[in-house]
Amino acid sequence: MRRPLSTKFKLTLWFTCFMSLLAAVCLGLILIISSRVAQSQAFNVLSMTVRGNISKISSVDGSLSLAGDFSFYSNDVYMLIYSREGALLSGQTPPSFPVNTELENGVSRFVPGEADGFYVLDFWVPSGWEEGFWLRGVLRSPDRDQAVDQIFLIFSVILPFFILTAAIGGYFIAKRALSPISYISGAAGSISEGRDLTQRISLPRGSDLEMQRLADAFNHMFARLEQAFEAEKQFTSDASHELRTPTSVILAQCSFVEKHGDDLEEYREAIDVIHRQARKMSQLTQSLLDMTRLDLGTRQLAREDLDLSAMTRDICEEQDTGGRSISLEASVEEGIHMEGDAFQLSRVIINLLENARKYGREGGHIRVRLSRQASREDGSLAVLTVEDDGIGIPAEHLDKIWQRFYQVNPSRQAGAGLGLGLSMVRQIVLLHGGTIEAESEEGKGSRFTVKFPAL
Ligand code: ADP
Repeated sequence: MRRPLSTKFKLTLWFTCFMSLLAAVCLGLILIISSRVAQSQAFNVLSMTVRGNISKISSVDGSLSLAGDFSFYSNDVYMLIYSREGALLSGQTPPSFPVNTELENGVSRFVPGEADGFYVLDFWVPSGWEEGFWLRGVLRSPDRDQAVDQIFLIFSVILPFFILTAAIGGYFIAKRALSPISYISGAAGSISEGRDLTQRISLPRGSDLEMQRLADAFNHMFARLEQAFEAEKQFTSDASHELRTPTSVILAQCSFVEKHGDDLEEYREAIDVIHRQARKMSQLTQSLLDMTRLDLGTRQLAREDLDLSAMTRDICEEQDTGGRSISLEASVEEGIHMEGDAFQLSRVIINLLENARKYGREGGHIRVRLSRQASREDGSLAVLTVEDDGIGIPAEHLDKIWQRFYQVNPSRQAGAGLGLGLSMVRQIVLLHGGTIEAESEEGKGSRFTVKFPAL
């Protein structure tokens, strides 16, 4: 594949071509003007000389008489005298002058010769001799070619210098104009090669506004990448940590029963532990898979018109109490519709209800409310709240519960969950253009409020 040309090269080439074209146009203009000036000067000299000589010829006693100061060659003009019939009577034609050039009274013109050209001016002079005669002035074309040659010579010496200077000048101007881009691409390259996303591009002082904007855009991108990279690192380390714990328990149980497992009861206990840990691992891998699918499948999210009221009511009715005596009270406004993915949205409601039950208190209450609220922007909002009167969340943990693997009190909650539910809930809500908020008071209970754009 052909390598694309660099902008610097293209600019230099363009600049050089433009300057060369400009020089060629100037040369052409100089040649045209100089030839015009030379021509008009030649006609002036010719006319002056011929007219000056007319009065110096007279007819005396039926023959022509030339005054003493009549000159057959002056100011480079050849004077020729012809008879009425056009026969040369006196004077000498310049070498290579076309002898049969027609006589035309009072018309200055250019007559091309074999090698050179000639300016010619004829006059019919009536006189007593043979009724009159022709007086012709011939001026060899001033050595126009020599002038042109000189101009060409000058230009052929100057032009290469001119083109070289234009090319070097163009190159430096292009280089200077594009240097911030090279700087930015170099800095971006070294950041990505060094894999140090904490580095930022700082342009030299006095850089152009556009370049500054470009550098800012790159820095913003690096900041976003750094964030994403850090989150990814955190997620991988959390996930492997979470998987390592049950794996070590399983391995420990296996080696214990291998060495010391004498009776059936010990085997049963070990298998029970192994079973629980394996279930936890399975749950964890399933949750991780779900999250990855959500991350990757943003565009594949179904967008159907669904009845959020019916969905909320059905989930509340089917909700398993998990063997706890917690009452559930649902107040659902009918006919609230929204656009979205029914499966994912049901996971939001189920997760919030399961948390309310998990972290609710024995004999406590869960309240679910769904209502329509007018929004300041166009349309209305579907507002879902899930409230419990359970253990609550301490204020300092409230903004962290959305993070993956975050649990307020992992040791007390052992076996309660994985700390992935709320982060998944939030992700689904955001993908549906909604918002989610948590309010809580330790020991008193929590309230989760989700808002979706309603149809
Ligand atoms: P988990 O699987 O641990 O429940 P979640 O992501 O669903 O993970 O919740 C994260 C943490 O937020 C929980 O570990 C718990 O400490 C806290 N939390 C969530 N919901 C409630 C609630 N209704 N009441 C009190 N704490 C809650």
